[in-house]
Amino acid sequence: MYYLNEIPTDEEYNNNVKRRWTQKSLHGRHPYDLSQQYVDTEASNKWLTKADLFAETVGFFTAIQDQVILTRNYKKYILKQPDTDELCRRCGKDSETIQHITAACEQLAPTEHVKRHYGLAKTIHQKLSEAAELIEEKSPYYKYTPTNVMENENFKLYWNRSILTDKTIHFIRPDISFMNKKTKAPF
Ligand SMILES: [Zn+2]
Repeated sequence: MYYLNEIPTDEEYNNNVKRRWTQKSLHGRHPYDLSQQYVDTEASNKWLTKADLFAETVGFFTAIQDQVILTRNYKKYILKQPDTDELCRRCGKDSETIQHITAACEQLAPTEHVKRHYGLAKTIHQKLSEAAELIEEKSPYYKYTPTNVMENENFKLYWNRSILTDKTIHFIRPDISFMNKKTKAPF
């Protein structure tokens, strides 16, 4: 509780919350990661203001980023339940951590990780096609299906299409290729 003459400014309040968060020994991993020099903090936090999510969804995502959800690794080492089998429930090969689930599990890689990859690529494709005025209709991202070849006077936008190269390049089928026809510059 604050007395009237002690009401903190927004900045003081935010700094105070941030300080308390980073000092918690089990939490604070996400703010620590965000504070690294190579991280664009503003871009990394944009989803908090732009995505229009429910507060509980934001809370859940933040807990995942902070690695404080009930993985087997968390149960065994943080909650100190030594009898817990720490191996991943899907592949049974590695310790079930957030990093393993989101980026390394060999069972999830060909299914959920690919789905996530294309979901993101589709969203980028949709934004590019709107910006280049290649489509007129705006549809919700989950209903959008990219067209393989889109072209107008100024731009070409390809989806999942092999491209011809002068030199031998092994991976010639990018998810997205976008070309400014006037300048011939790829984006
Ligand atoms: Zn796994």
